[in-house]
Amino acid sequence: MNRRDFTLQLQRSALVLAMAPWLTATAQPSEQVRRWRSNPFALGVASGRPRPDSVVLWTRLLIAEEDRASAGPDALRVQVTVYADAALKRRVQKTDVVTDASRGHSVHVHLQNLQPATDYWYRFSQGDAFSTVGHTRTAPAANADVQQLRIALASCQHYEHGQYIAHQEIAQQSLDFVLFVGDYIYESTNPQLMVRQHSGGEPKTLAQYRERYAQYKRDPHLQAAHAAHPWVLMWDDHEVVNDYANDQDRNYTDPQQFLLRRAAAYQAYFEHQPVLIGPDPQSPQQASMRLYEQFNWGKLADIWTLDCRQYRSPQACRDPVRGGGRMVTQCDELDDPKRSMLGVEQERWLDLGLANSKRTWRLLAQATLIAPTSIPAPVGRATYNDAWDGYGPARQRLLQSVVDHKLDNVVTLGGDVHMNVASNLRLVPNDPQSPIVASEFVTTSITSRGMGDNVLSVIKANNPDLLHARADERGYSLITVTPSSVRCDFRSTAFPAGKEAGLKTQASYVVRSGKAGPTPV
Ligand code: FE
Ligand code: CA
Repeated sequence: MNRRDFTLQLQRSALVLAMAPWLTATAQPSEQVRRWRSNPFALGVASGRPRPDSVVLWTRLLIAEEDRASAGPDALRVQVTVYADAALKRRVQKTDVVTDASRGHSVHVHLQNLQPATDYWYRFSQGDAFSTVGHTRTAPAANADVQQLRIALASCQHYEHGQYIAHQEIAQQSLDFVLFVGDYIYESTNPQLMVRQHSGGEPKTLAQYRERYAQYKRDPHLQAAHAAHPWVLMWDDHEVVNDYANDQDRNYTDPQQFLLRRAAAYQAYFEHQPVLIGPDPQSPQQASMRLYEQFNWGKLADIWTLDCRQYRSPQACRDPVRGGGRMVTQCDELDDPKRSMLGVEQERWLDLGLANSKRTWRLLAQATLIAPTSIPAPVGRATYNDAWDGYGPARQRLLQSVVDHKLDNVVTLGGDVHMNVASNLRLVPNDPQSPIVASEFVTTSITSRGMGDNVLSVIKANNPDLLHARADERGYSLITVTPSSVRCDFRSTAFPAGKEAGLKTQASYVVRSGKAGPTPV
């Protein structure tokens, strides 16, 4: 097939059946081209959810005060043009979608009928305003012999704790996708750690969460990382509020009341991310949103994104006044097999997916730390109840399912704890007699401050499964998957991440095919 035929075929085959039902409302085509005083694409562009034949494109129009007077009808028609080249010469498809204030003028376009393992460039426009150009890339075909998958693993980007220099580097890397595993925004503030400031107080309403996302999304480095690569996204707690668990928050707010806040936070999350579906309108309080998914990267990897917040049991032995995460001792609840991290339905779904997994690697992306971190206490051990350590039987079920289905090459990828971690995962944590059944990499935070060295050295001394654990640096992790290994390069710099800081490789670990457990490179 020659270039011209190829281009024609692309044009014919292509795309775009966007949109949830609420986008079917029509805007009156305006006789004149709208003139914007302030560019409405100030929050940048993004793409996500790469599949062999589709991606999701995202933007959100921000209508400045000076444009509001002349805004006319609430609904706005937004064009998106997709190209096969960076010079924007070979147009693949052009379409338009309508958005309005009910979804914060966010735009989601589900591009379909794309070619596998192919680069695309895209740009939005409205009136005389144009967005920046984004680049995205589809996943390889399900049966493709893929030699390499490169991922930037990232989490925890408290805006106030530092500059997004990690995103500056991520934007320049050659990657298949960015895997962000949670704490995209923070609701909370700590004046002592402030490098720059949140605007507004703690968000609780949809308008307030929108404002918080808008502030984060204005960061030029974060915008660059979104424009450069598709993102695969999972959330953790701070997208709603610190340490929430299912329908419970730390203050023991009435669940019906709390679900209203969760609904606002989930809606704002959807409005600001390149994800396919928003909150389920049929769910109670419209506070449920399915984010967990399974996909694959050719024959190289089966990949899961796991939701560790929405369906979990409340933390064990919570403080009766101030709930949420803490170190607990003498807590029988920790051993209760009825408690779950993923919830019954997601657990069952994951077990089924693992049972049917035939690809070379199994990558489990999830929000937090699976390896043990408990330390000796005057009576027994003190255990942090918010990570998987606080959900021991659930962790054991997860690893038992790996054993039962006779799976090798299982690597988990996490975040949340603000430290770089490489660890062995055993059915019985820290027991050298118990076989290593999987390998774990956890990335440090983009900016959020980590725990002190004193505590961490006690944790390390008492948990031999932790092969590497450092909480003093900020950054991200480069994950390189090939048929023979999964390699992790921890790219980080000292806290706080300043404008002039540069990232270096703190350590590198590799998991070799057929042998569980990371080894240093
Ligand atoms: Fe965090
Ligand atoms: Ca977290």
